Amino acid sequence: MIKITDTHSHYDDEAFDSDRYELLERLLAEKCEKIVTLGCDIGKSRFSVGLAERYDNVYAAVGVHPENCGDVGDDWLEELKKLADHPKVCAIGEIGLDYHWEPFDRNRQIHFFREQLILAKELGLPVCVHSRDCTKDILDILREFRPKGVLHCFSGSVEVAEEILSFGMMISFTGLLTFKNAKKAVEACRIIPLDRIMLETDSPYMTPVPHRGERNDSGNLIFTAGKLAEIKGITVEEAVKACNENAERFFRFDRTKG
Ligand SMILES: [Zn+2]
Ligand SMILES: [Zn+2]
Repeated sequence: MIKITDTHSHYDDEAFDSDRYELLERLLAEKCEKIVTLGCDIGKSRFSVGLAERYDNVYAAVGVHPENCGDVGDDWLEELKKLADHPKVCAIGEIGLDYHWEPFDRNRQIHFFREQLILAKELGLPVCVHSRDCTKDILDILREFRPKGVLHCFSGSVEVAEEILSFGMMISFTGLLTFKNAKKAVEACRIIPLDRIMLETDSPYMTPVPHRGERNDSGNLIFTAGKLAEIKGITVEEAVKACNENAERFFRFDRTKG
């Protein structure tokens, strides 16, 4: 049985309210080596830390998502810093820029993104970066900071992938890689070295084929791993082993703080 590390999920989401704990227990017993669950605001980040406390192989990332930066209190950075001090917090995220839904406050998003990149650097934590409809701005900021980071749910071009790699960052793929219309992402995946790729579900979103349209959970990671193996011309076992090792190296799950 292959156990896969899910490097990006949202088990705080209300989509899991009815069966969150049974589901996580089953996934950890049968399908997942480790699960990283990310907060998108202060409350959700706190909830994610609670989940990480509850299970040995669940880890948390804490952060304010660009779509949520309008709703946090003035003390958000202090609160985030406190949460990030927890030994099971392995990254700052989900952070980034998202210009998809109008109206959005570009300057505020950039401010929040930069503050959290600075915080991550201060704390020696990697960052999980979200990018949607903002390629120029995100590349400009990442070029400046060159964080230890991952660009998640990659759907961009070969050129964007090359640029992200040149910053020293990782790239992770969701179920999007299995979509029929994901030609660009597949092309990009082909040129990304296997030691720079991680697997993620972004649960409950981005459900891979053949379960598209249903709620996603980490058990579906096998379909994305299968697609990755096909693109790289390797076995699923080889793809999973490489991605699991990349996740260990990137998040340093075994590090002890203090
Ligand atoms: Zn995202
Ligand atoms: Zn996400």
